[in-house]
Amino acid sequence: MKKEPIKVKETEPLQRTANFSEVVSGYTEGQTLKEAARCLQCKNPTCIAGCPVGVDIKKFIFQITQKDYDGAYFTVRETNDFPSICGRVCPAEYQCSKTCVLTKKGSPFASERAINIHFLERFVGDYGMKHNLEVSIQKNERLTKQKVAVVGSGPAGLCCAGELARRGIKIVIFESLHKPGGVLRYGIPPFRLPRDVLDFEINYLKNLGVEIMPNFIVGKLKSLDELFAEGFQAIFLGLGAGTPSFLGISGENFCNVYSANEFLTRVNLMGAYKFPEFHTPINVGKNILVIGGGNTAMDAARVALRLQKINGIRPNVTLFYRRTENEMPARRMEIEHAKEEGIKFQFLVKPEEFIGDNEGYVKRMRALRCKLGELDSSGRRRPLPIKGSDFEIDCDEAIIAIGLLANQVLVKATQNLKTDKYSDIVVNPETMETSIKRVYAGGDIVGGEGTVIEAMGMAKKASQAIVEYLSRK
Ligand code: FAD
Ligand code: SF4
Repeated sequence: MKKEPIKVKETEPLQRTANFSEVVSGYTEGQTLKEAARCLQCKNPTCIAGCPVGVDIKKFIFQITQKDYDGAYFTVRETNDFPSICGRVCPAEYQCSKTCVLTKKGSPFASERAINIHFLERFVGDYGMKHNLEVSIQKNERLTKQKVAVVGSGPAGLCCAGELARRGIKIVIFESLHKPGGVLRYGIPPFRLPRDVLDFEINYLKNLGVEIMPNFIVGKLKSLDELFAEGFQAIFLGLGAGTPSFLGISGENFCNVYSANEFLTRVNLMGAYKFPEFHTPINVGKNILVIGGGNTAMDAARVALRLQKINGIRPNVTLFYRRTENEMPARRMEIEHAKEEGIKFQFLVKPEEFIGDNEGYVKRMRALRCKLGELDSSGRRRPLPIKGSDFEIDCDEAIIAIGLLANQVLVKATQNLKTDKYSDIVVNPETMETSIKRVYAGGDIVGGEGTVIEAMGMAKKASQAIVEYLSRK
C-alpha cells in the first residue's frame, strides 16, 4: 500500500483568526520520520533542480530517516542559511516539491502526493535552533581587517552579511526602517512567520559581530562614494522591491484605499493591531475588498480578517482577482487557509473605479467581469474584460495588492548604477557585481519580485564573489 502524505497540524480557522499566532504547527519528530520515510531516494533526484539554491534534498531526508538530525541540519545549511524561515515560507509547491518525482510532469504545481520537503526542512531548521547548532566559522586572518557594507536587511542582506561575517569580515548593515528583516518583518505576517524565528537569525548575526544601523537610508544620509571613503571595501545592495503598484483607476486616492504595503507595514511592523499600545492606528472596515492574487494579496486579506481583534467586529473580506484560481501566483497553502478562514473569492474581475462619499471616504467599487484569452508574456492566459458586465459592490476599505516595484531612493541617487526598464539593478549574473566596481546586488532589486530563497541564493553568490575579490587584494 502506498504511504499517505503526513498532514501537518493547523489551528482551527475560528480560533486562529482571532489572533496573530502561528497557524501551522510543523511536524513532530514522529511525523517527520514518517514523511521522510515516504521519500523514494531516487537515483537521480529531480527535486534538487526545483530548489533555487540546490539544497541536497535527497541527502538531508536520508539523514532524517537515520535520525541524524545534526547531519541533516548541516546538509541543508550548506546552501540555505535560514532553513527555519524557508521551511515556513518557501513556495515549495512551485519549487522543489513541484519537481519531486511524485508530482506528475507538467503539473502547474506540486501534487498532494509529493514529499512535503519544506515541512521536513522546517523540522531540521527548528532542531538546529533549539540545539544551537553552529555552522563552522571559517575565519580567514587576511579578511578580518576588511569591512563590507550591506544595504538592506531583508533575506538577501541578512544572508550576505552572515556569509561574510562567518569569514571574519566586519559587516555593517544599513537599514532604512527601524527594525531589520525587510519583507520578513513588515510584509509576511507573524501567523506565517513568528518573529522569534526571525529574531533568532538576526541575533545570531549580531553575535557574529554584525552591526545593524537602523533608520539609515543610504542614498539620503550617505552615498555609496561616502561609504567607500569610510573604508568599506565592497558594498552589497539588497534593496528589495517595496514600491507599490496601483491600478491607475479613478477614486484610488479616497480615504481607506490602502496599498497592501502600507497596510501590512502598519500592522506587522508598526503594531497597529495593538493600538493605542503602539502609536500607529489603522482603519478597520466592515466590508473590505482586496485586489490581487499573489502572496501579498493573501497576506493582506488574512491580516484584514484578524483586525477584528481591534473592535470585535468580524469584517467581510472579499478578494478580487482578474484571472482564475489556477493562475493565482500565491502559495496554494495560503489560498486554502484564506478560504477556510472565510475570505470570499471573486475571480475574473477587473476593477474600474472606486466611488466615494462627500467626505472623501471610499464606499463602492465598480468592476467588470472578464474571460480568459490567449497566453500573454507571463505565460498565463490574458484576462479580457466583458463589455457591459459592470457591477458595483459596497466597501468601506480597499487594499491594492497587484505587485511591487524596485525600491528607488538609492538607485536614483547613484550615477552610473545601471538599471533596466523596470528600474531593477543590472548585474553580472556570475558575480552579482553591478556596473559600479565593488558594488554587488541581489534579491528583489535584481530581476523584480521573487521568493525568499531566490533572494538568498543571489546574496550567497554575491558573497562568494566579494570573498574572492577581498582575498585577491
Ligand atoms: P526585502 O525583503 O524587500 O528587503 C529590502 C530591505 O532593504 C528593506 O528592509 C528596505 O527597507 C531596505 N532598503 C531599501 N532601500 C534602502 C536604502 N536606500 N537604505 C537602507 N535600506 C534600504 N516569498 C516567499 O518565498 N514566500 C512567501 O510566502 C512570500 N510572501 C510574501 C508576502 C509579502 C507581503 C511580500 C511583499 C513578499 C512575499 N514574498 C514571499 C517575497 C519575498 O519576501 C521577497 O522576495 C524577499 O523578501 C526579497 O528579499 P530582499 O532582501 O531582496 O528584499
Ligand atoms: Fe524546497 Fe525552499 Fe528548501 Fe529549496 S529552500 S529545498 S525550494 S523548501
